[in-house]
Amino acid sequence: MSDNVSVAIKEKVAHLLNRRVGPYNSWNPVSRTQVWQWCTAMGDNNPLYLDDEYRQDTEFDDVTAPPTMMQMWSMRDAQGNYAPGSTDKNPYELLSVLEDNGYAGIMAVSYDQTFHRYLQEGERVHHYTTLVNMTDLKTTGMGKGFFVTELAEFLTEDDEKFAEAVITYFQYETPKKQPGAKKPGSDIQKITRVHPVENYDNAHFWQGLRDGELLIQKCDSCATLRHPPQPMCSECQSLDWGTIAASGKGSIYTYTVMHYPEIPPFDYPNAIALIDLEEGVRIATQLTDIKPNDIKIGMDVEMVLTEVQDDMTLPLFGPIGSAAKKKQEQQS
Ligand code: ZN
Repeated sequence: MSDNVSVAIKEKVAHLLNRRVGPYNSWNPVSRTQVWQWCTAMGDNNPLYLDDEYRQDTEFDDVTAPPTMMQMWSMRDAQGNYAPGSTDKNPYELLSVLEDNGYAGIMAVSYDQTFHRYLQEGERVHHYTTLVNMTDLKTTGMGKGFFVTELAEFLTEDDEKFAEAVITYFQYETPKKQPGAKKPGSDIQKITRVHPVENYDNAHFWQGLRDGELLIQKCDSCATLRHPPQPMCSECQSLDWGTIAASGKGSIYTYTVMHYPEIPPFDYPNAIALIDLEEGVRIATQLTDIKPNDIKIGMDVEMVLTEVQDDMTLPLFGPIGSAAKKKQEQQS
């Protein structure tokens, strides 16, 4: 049965494989302003990108863009339009066909990037996309679906390839949403969160949570705090460190609310935020005890240590008062 489905769909989309679609042009040339915005948003302080004086002693004359910005130069605008001169072909027609056939869930599985050279201010770029492979129908913990692999090639005006990415998606069968229907995933037996690997560098963090504390690494040499856990201080390169316990107070730096597709074991809508802790480091977490519409950037929040499953305690964050509320609930 699955074999027949697999063969029929693969025949339907065969002509959409190995079709190089493009170009998708850039709206704007590489610019200092965008490099600056990216670096400040990412917290990337590499002087090669932003320090003109530093760059004088390097092989680069002009503003140099972080290689990981490759994808943003030829992105669509906020209305979804590609820049003039771009093809109007849909590079993802194959994924649309899968969607029309009931495989509407999509999950990125892997993203391998190769950078051939840096871009400099003033350069214009374009990209091409080729869907290079599609597997037979596979059964996974997410359900049945197809793995599809895309090759994205990023080129300069002279068609010199400066970067490429190989991206694999899993496009899977999703139950149709009906009022009163069972929650997606509820018929799949007990899918739990995958516990991250505990190693020498991060064991303190997980043990701290089990002991009821959120521990932040502190450099023994220059006292700089850091999170997430790393072996080396980015300020002074010292490998010696200790920890301090965070107060659990902070504010929302930014957030996003996930609605669909609903992937077990998470509850939806699923609000995920970056919290600026009052100690001065930032932590990614899930928000609790708040409706999506009530979340505001900058609002004060506090840690609510939550045992999300038997083997995992996480520092979720909620509005002021939610920690006390949780304690009360546990006592009653
Ligand atoms: Zn240090």
